[in-house]
Amino acid sequence: MAAKPKISMYWASSCGGCEIALVNIHEHLLELADNFDFVFCPCLLDTKRHDIEAMDDGEMLITFFNGALRTSENIEMAHLLRRKSTLLVAFGSCASGGCIPALANLTTREALMETVYGSGPTLDNAVHVVPGPTTTVPEGDLTLPVFERTVGTLASAVDVDYVIPGCPPESAQIWAVIAHVIAGKPLPPKGSVLGAGDKTVCDDCKRVKEEKLVSRFHRTWEIIPDRTQCLLEQGIVCMGIATRSGCGGLCPDVNMPCIGCYGPPEGVRDQGAKMIGALGAIIDVQPMKDMGEARVAAHIAEVLDTIPDLAGTLYKFSLGGSLMQGGLATANAATQATTAESTAR
Ligand code: SF4
Repeated sequence: MAAKPKISMYWASSCGGCEIALVNIHEHLLELADNFDFVFCPCLLDTKRHDIEAMDDGEMLITFFNGALRTSENIEMAHLLRRKSTLLVAFGSCASGGCIPALANLTTREALMETVYGSGPTLDNAVHVVPGPTTTVPEGDLTLPVFERTVGTLASAVDVDYVIPGCPPESAQIWAVIAHVIAGKPLPPKGSVLGAGDKTVCDDCKRVKEEKLVSRFHRTWEIIPDRTQCLLEQGIVCMGIATRSGCGGLCPDVNMPCIGCYGPPEGVRDQGAKMIGALGAIIDVQPMKDMGEARVAAHIAEVLDTIPDLAGTLYKFSLGGSLMQGGLATANAATQATTAESTAR
């Protein structure tokens, strides 16, 4: 009997939701097992890193790589799995856009360490122990992967063949991609997005859009939205216009706003920038239109201030792949270094 092609799934910095989404293809798992040899998946199988290192380059047909690159180990595994896989797929929002882990790029590594190990209200760390790559104990040196300065996407470290977006990707979409490969159908050009649409969530949403303007934004618990009207036009930040279709508009369907987990739609590089444009277009400036540009700008700023954590809202799933990427953390680190240098002079 001919050997089956090998498939693997790896998690870097992520929550495990992508693995759950894979398991949720339910009985199709049997078809997956019939057609592939599932050789590596740290949360399901006991294969070790040295088993992968022992493989020939390109020996695995497909690797689904989920998770962002936060540590030196994440980056090493990205390079290893790139070498050993014919097709490397950025699976889920963390691998493709950085997702929640990449929001850490809005601050610095030092500030993160201080929050987690220094100033947390439930901490008992009087001697201020902070984990580092090497800790010396009487028995010898203990090592941990390096906590990198910024969080990167998979593509920030290695060449990526395809992207399957979503947080996590919808299981039906995952199965559609696997079934396509099993059927031996040709894949789209390298770099394509698989398991998703090429429009926006708004295109799939059945709600009525009327071009209404808003004078403030609301959090989901502050109002009970009408079930038929566009949520954005009711003042709820719904990311549908800046988000790739593929989920079927599940969240607006149950009266919850789209939070952007399928990342930017086709042709849009920066999801947050696209969304801020949409927000700007919906803010009602009619009452102060004769009061001068400064007053209008101040009003827009006041209305945007009704959205707590604007960057976290607009870039929740895509900061690592956005135009800013790790820019803020790098910029903050550079500023700190310059300040330290000037102080030392
Ligand atoms: Fe639907 Fe949200 Fe788009 Fe409005 S903004 S049409 S609620 S997906």
